[in-house]
Amino acid sequence: MVLRVRLLPRLLLLPSTHTSTPLRPSRLPRRLSFSARFSALSHLAVPQDVEQSDNEGAPHGDVQVKLPLDRLFVPPGATVDVGDQEAVSARVLKGSNIVLGPYARGDAHVVNADFVKSSVRPDDCPRDGLPEFALVGRSNVGKSSLLNSLVRRKRLALTSKKPGKTQCINHFKVNDSWYLVDLPGYGYASAPQEARTNWDEFTRNYFLSRENLVSVFLLIDASIPAKKIDLDYASWLGQNKVPMTLVFTKCDKRKKKKNGGRRPEENVETFQGLIREYFEAAPPWIMTSSVTNQGRDEILLHMSQLRNYWLKH
Ligand code: GDP
Repeated sequence: MVLRVRLLPRLLLLPSTHTSTPLRPSRLPRRLSFSARFSALSHLAVPQDVEQSDNEGAPHGDVQVKLPLDRLFVPPGATVDVGDQEAVSARVLKGSNIVLGPYARGDAHVVNADFVKSSVRPDDCPRDGLPEFALVGRSNVGKSSLLNSLVRRKRLALTSKKPGKTQCINHFKVNDSWYLVDLPGYGYASAPQEARTNWDEFTRNYFLSRENLVSVFLLIDASIPAKKIDLDYASWLGQNKVPMTLVFTKCDKRKKKKNGGRRPEENVETFQGLIREYFEAAPPWIMTSSVTNQGRDEILLHMSQLRNYWLKH
């Protein structure tokens, strides 16, 4: 099969067949049975201002991190050859634990994106059955910035910030064929308890009832240590078997002292450790920055492979 992936040309060199490791169903992933001794290299894209010791041997300021294979996310429909670590490493999307499989297509990039509607109840959402990805995160996590970066429009997500729309489910149609969904931010310190409970119930209903929801993209600020509310959110999704991708935002922010002395990669690692017990298999995660556009093309490829698999099954 020929992958028409413009965004990451090196992936064109991928072998098209691999000796198989069993696939995971999309909604209920199970743990892969790799030996933990196998590992794949993941390039974590880190800006050039990181100390040299972090960069040793890694090209273009990347930090190479060895991920045990049981912590990689192998998408449904993909297989990996556990005997060929180099081939597996070549297929891990940069700054993530996500293996690129055969369902990633040339349809990854965004050609057009339009605001469609704001809904106040899950029942009011579009009913055309197109696949969708929901973005959710604490207020100020960088959700609007990421949405704008994904669609390469400076102000599209402003729609979600208009008075009266911040507590709505906002649908944006991409390439006339799938949706990006902006959900209300959580964790507004100033909101009354009653309002917070209502939003929670509203979004939880959406997660549990929306049949064309392919994956939730839970945004976590990687420039600060993990917050309890984010851990609670991730564990709730895990326990309820709602497919989830962790999107770590603001990975360009590296002022160590200001961030409690920890780098984004360290916060990412800590977060994984804290939620591991709630997931049967490692959820996909990816590091991003809306300032440098780190992770943007990779997220779109990941969405493409999940979407194309979902459409076929
Ligand atoms: P939202 O409330 O989740 O929609 O967050 P916004 O997208 O409005 O961003 C909140 C603040 O974080 C703004 O000041 C943004 O400029 C800033 N911000 C968002 N994304 C990034 C990022 O990737 N890197 C940095 N350094 N700042 C960001």
